Amino acid sequence: MFTKLNVLDEKDKRLRQKCKEVSLPLSDEDKKTIKHIIKHLTYSQIPEYEEKYNLRPGMGLAFPQLGKLKRIIVIVYEYEEGQFQNYVIVNPKIVSYSEEKVALETGEGCLSVNREVEGHVPRYARITIEGFDEDGNKVKVRAREELAVAFQHEVDHLDGILFFDRINKKRPFYNENEIRLI
Ligand code: ZN
Repeated sequence: MFTKLNVLDEKDKRLRQKCKEVSLPLSDEDKKTIKHIIKHLTYSQIPEYEEKYNLRPGMGLAFPQLGKLKRIIVIVYEYEEGQFQNYVIVNPKIVSYSEEKVALETGEGCLSVNREVEGHVPRYARITIEGFDEDGNKVKVRAREELAVAFQHEVDHLDGILFFDRINKKRPFYNENEIRLI
């Protein structure tokens, strides 16, 4: 049995709040929510299930998008066609980042933003993120390119920031000399 997650829309004020650190070990309810998010994000990236359940494709979700104001993020990254790597990070902290910045050429999307938003979102090209996994073990992940962008996008959610907040309103697009577009 699979039921779609009920993801909050950008208009919901809960998406603008700063989330609280989570104490470990995680509750069974939070663990259940994490499993549900992983399933939803995985299915949303498999065309057969995407269609069957009418899902919007997405690779990441943060707890506040479900109305839970806790510092937990989940990313399901398709590193090769049909091959997924899951990342669950509780109380994530970006502990280092590159000087170089990148932006997704086609802009970012968000499961809470149900409209097209045009513009480049500057992000660090490489980051190191630390936190805990769902079992309370310390984790450290080095990410680059698209995966690094996803981590920064999700960590922003924990501080009430949405991706379009970072788009330059006066000049939303960069050229290749300013930022590397990926
Ligand atoms: Zn988002």
